[in-house]
Amino acid sequence: MIEIKTPGELQAMRAAGLVVARTLAAVAEAAKAGTSTAELDEIAEQTIRDAGAVPSFKGYHGFPASICASVNEQIVHGIPAPSQVLADGDIISVDCGAILDGWHGDSAVTLAIGTVSAADLALSEATKAAMWAGVEAVKAGGRLTDISHAVQTSAEATSLADGIKYGMILEYGGHGIGTEMHMDPFLPNVGKPGKGPRLKVGMALAIEPMLTGGGGETLELDDGWTVVTADGSRAAHWEHTVAITEDGPWVLTAPEDV
Ligand code: MG
Ligand code: MG
Repeated sequence: MIEIKTPGELQAMRAAGLVVARTLAAVAEAAKAGTSTAELDEIAEQTIRDAGAVPSFKGYHGFPASICASVNEQIVHGIPAPSQVLADGDIISVDCGAILDGWHGDSAVTLAIGTVSAADLALSEATKAAMWAGVEAVKAGGRLTDISHAVQTSAEATSLADGIKYGMILEYGGHGIGTEMHMDPFLPNVGKPGKGPRLKVGMALAIEPMLTGGGGETLELDDGWTVVTADGSRAAHWEHTVAITEDGPWVLTAPEDV
């Protein structure tokens, strides 16, 4: 069963999404060489709570923080730490969720710290483009894997254009979202179109591709959370929460309506 939201409930999700957008903007502003990921986490938690919301991640299956902060070869689920201090040339993926009035928003960005390599910038841009391709494929009456296919096709096309073979992370993907952060359906980032559940007005999905500058193999660190690339290549992660409306996709975690 995929949760269907009323227009009023989607408005409530938009309010939660705006808290997440504001939080990621505050984190982006603070993410500089010399700043620790624990400091970024404090800023995020404060921003979320100041908005009257609750961090979705904190305590989620025991996760100890309000953001996931994944630096360089870390792909997702990095735990913020005082010892993880950002340096010039790093890339960091920040994933954030907030609950407002019982509704969830979930979004991630990849940030460049100081001057990063052209290859890392291209990797982040390729991942962001794949996310937006997925968003554009969200259509009432379409099928779930139309989104998967759009994400994959975009990543492959950018890979070709950039002359870089990006690795695709297959173990992780998008998901339904609403009264819980992770709900049915799981949304793969690759696949043939025209399969899976039919998309309906009132559904909401988190679309979140992850690409690497190397292979797609992953390892989980001993902390039980942090997922890294097996080959040490760098990774990027972009995510938006998107609702399906009569008028097309509504990006609930965008800073402004797009
Ligand atoms: Mg997320
Ligand atoms: Mg998510």
